[in-house]
Amino acid sequence: MISVLTGATLVDGTGATPVPDAAVVIDGDRITAAGPRAALSWPADAQVVDARGRTVIPGLIDAHDHLASHGYGLATRWGLDEPASTAHLRTARVLAETLAMGYTTVRDGGGLDAGFKLAVEQGLIPGPRLVLAVQIISPTGGIGDRVTPSGHDCCAAYDPLLPDSVANGPDAVRDVVRTMVRAGADVIKTATTGGASSRPGHGPLDAAFTLGEREALVAESHALGRRVMCHALGGPGLRTALEAGVDTIEHGCYLDEDPTLLGQMAVQGTFFVPTLTVYVYHRESPSPHVRERAAALYPHHVASVRRALELGVPIAAGTDAGGHGHPRNALEVKYLVEAGLSPMQALRAATQWAARCLGLEHQVGTIEKDRLADLVVVNGNPLDDITLLLDPARIELVYKSGVICADRRVTPP
Ligand SMILES: [Zn+2]
Repeated sequence: MISVLTGATLVDGTGATPVPDAAVVIDGDRITAAGPRAALSWPADAQVVDARGRTVIPGLIDAHDHLASHGYGLATRWGLDEPASTAHLRTARVLAETLAMGYTTVRDGGGLDAGFKLAVEQGLIPGPRLVLAVQIISPTGGIGDRVTPSGHDCCAAYDPLLPDSVANGPDAVRDVVRTMVRAGADVIKTATTGGASSRPGHGPLDAAFTLGEREALVAESHALGRRVMCHALGGPGLRTALEAGVDTIEHGCYLDEDPTLLGQMAVQGTFFVPTLTVYVYHRESPSPHVRERAAALYPHHVASVRRALELGVPIAAGTDAGGHGHPRNALEVKYLVEAGLSPMQALRAATQWAARCLGLEHQVGTIEKDRLADLVVVNGNPLDDITLLLDPARIELVYKSGVICADRRVTPP
C-alpha cells in the first residue's frame, strides 16, 4: 500500500532548506521519495493525506530517557511502593504517551527491561522503537549502587532482566557487561562520576572506576558490538572516560572546565548528550545538596554546549526523564535553543544527530528515500516556534514505520 503526504513544508532533518508544498511517498514501512510535490509522482490509487499548512519533520528521538523510572525515592526505585504490575502498566502508559508526542525512537539509559521492547515489537502496546541499556554499570558507591543513606541494600526480589550492575575490578566489569548483553542491552551504560541527584559524598566531580576498569568496560562492550554511553559530569572521571574511548558523554556539565576535552571529543567523534532538562528540574529539587549542585553546574553546562557547538562536537537531545517524572520530551529541544542552538540545529539534535548517536542513521532520523517512515506532521512550523513540539494539539499525525499511531486532526486543512 502506497500513501502520500502532500502539501506540507518538508524539514527533512539533514539541515537542508525547508521545501514548501512537498510530498513524502511511503510504501509499506519505508519512504520511497521526498521532495517538491511537483517533482514527484505516485500511483493513482495511492492513499493521499492532505497536509497543507503543516510541517512534516522526521520522527523525534530522545537519546537519554528512563521510561520505567517514576521517581527518585528509593522505595520507588526498588519497586517497593506499588505492585510490579501497576508499575509496568504505568511504564506502558509512558511509552504510549511518548510515541503520541512524535517520539518514535528512544534510547533508554537504564531501568527498562527487554520485555517492554518485545511487547512493542509484538504490537502488544504502542511505544517508540527502543534502544536499551538495561542497567547502569558502576563500582560500589557509584550511581548504579542503590543503597540507603544507612547503607542498606535492596531487599526486593532478584529480577534476571534487570541484573545487578555493580562491578569492581576489570574482570568483574567484563562479566557485568556480558550479563547486560545477555539481558538484552543494545548499548552499555556506565557512570564514571556522581551526579546532581546522587548521594552526598559522590557528586558531579567525584570519580568512579579506575582507568583499567573503564578500559575493560569499553573493550568488552565494543567486542560485543555495543556502544558505551557514559554518565560523566566533570573532574577526573570525565577525563578518563574520554581516554578510555566511550562513545557518548551523557550530561558533560563541566566539559568547559578543561579546554582540551571538547577538542578531543570533536576529534574522536564522541557524542555529547547534555540532558539540560533534568538539571532545570534539579535546580528546584527538595534535597538541598541536589539543588546546590544543579545551581552550580548550570552555567558551566550551557557554556559547555556553546563550546561544543563551536568545535563541531556532535550533540544529541536527551531528557534524562524518569526520576523527575515524564514531562514532554521536546522540552530538551527548547532548552537547547535557549542554550544557543538554532531551531534547525536543535531539531537535528533530536533527529539526524540523535540517530547517529544511536548508530541508527541508516534507518531513522531523516526523511529520505529508503529510511523507515517515521514522520511527525506538526500544525505550524517548529522552526518559527520550537515550543509547538510541546503542544499535543499541534502534533497532528505521528507515523512509525509507515503506520499512523497518533491522529489528532480535527478539521481538514
Ligand atoms: Zn540518566
